[in-house]
Amino acid sequence: MSDVRAQPSDPGPATPDTADWTWVLTRPCPDCGFAPEDVRPDGVSEILIDAGRRWAAVLDRDDVQVRPAPGVWSPLEYACHVRDVCDVMRGRVEQILAGGGETAQFANWDQDATAQEKAYWRADPAEVRRELEVAFAAAAAAFARPTREQWSWPGLRSNGSPFTVETLGRYFVHDILHHLWDVRG
Ligand SMILES: [Zn+2]
Repeated sequence: MSDVRAQPSDPGPATPDTADWTWVLTRPCPDCGFAPEDVRPDGVSEILIDAGRRWAAVLDRDDVQVRPAPGVWSPLEYACHVRDVCDVMRGRVEQILAGGGETAQFANWDQDATAQEKAYWRADPAEVRRELEVAFAAAAAAFARPTREQWSWPGLRSNGSPFTVETLGRYFVHDILHHLWDVRG
């Protein structure tokens, strides 16, 4: 018999998501049911605040650290990803607004490398819950800021995909809601 407690061990990287999800800006998502035309610019903040509450509930689950299948993130790992998506998208909208209408060039963000570097799998759920709350509040505040004119200001992803503040908000909202669907949250 051993008195060593079972420690969770590194499950390795999840299968990378290499799809370009920008198509959700023009047609509904068959998985999560998201419809791009349902997201109005002035509704983005409210959707984010509501989604943040649902993510907090996900983090209260007892089995939040369990991967549902090999190569698939646990709800905890998804929550870490969503926290970082909130920070990246907030940064991007702030970058566009700071540019005064000039096209903002977004830095590349490798989500799978970030998951490995930050070891999402061994994060503390209570800590992630607090960080998520802060990240959602900051992102919701950032998307409450643009004036009517600023919603059409442009930004360019490093792979060449063009965005405006409006489409960035829509893309962001889908990402957050789709991952809630991923974890049945
Ligand atoms: Zn979706």
